[in-house]
Amino acid sequence: MAIRQIRFEDDPILRKKSRKVDKIDERIRTLVQDMLDTMYKEEGVGLAAPQVGILKRVVVIDIGEGPIVMINPEIIEEEGKSIDLEGCLSIPGKSGKVCRPERVKVEHLDIEGNKNIIEGTALLARALCHEIDHLNGILYIDKVVDADDEQEC
Ligand code: ZN
Repeated sequence: MAIRQIRFEDDPILRKKSRKVDKIDERIRTLVQDMLDTMYKEEGVGLAAPQVGILKRVVVIDIGEGPIVMINPEIIEEEGKSIDLEGCLSIPGKSGKVCRPERVKVEHLDIEGNKNIIEGTALLARALCHEIDHLNGILYIDKVVDADDEQEC
C-alpha cells in the first residue's frame, strides 16, 4: 500500500493533457493500486492519474459500489442533463454546481487490458465525466454554473 501525494489546484500538471497508456505493465499496475489506496484514504469517489502527478490516461472510481479501474477511457455516448454539486480532492473544502450528462457510456481497458464498456447514470455518470476531464487538463471549477443559471444546464 502506498499513498501518493495529491496535486492541488495551482499545480500546472493538472492543466496538462495526459498520454494514452500503450502497455499495461508493472508500473501501471502499481500506479492503479496506489491510486486506489490514495482515493480510499482521502475518501474520494474518484481519482485521475494527473492528480498524483502522472500524465497517463488512468482513472479509478468508487461511488460505494466497488472499485472501477479505467485505462484510456473514452466517452462514446451521452444522454440527458443533470445539475448537481461536485467537489474534487485537488480542490479541498470546496464544491460547485456543474452540469453533466445524466447517462454516459465509457469505453476503456480494464487492468487486464480487456476492452470494456461501462454505463453510468447520475453520480456514476458525473464521476466518469469529472475524472475523464482531468485527463484533458479540465477541472470542474471551469464548468461551475451559478445557482441562478440552473435552467441553462
Ligand atoms: Zn477531481
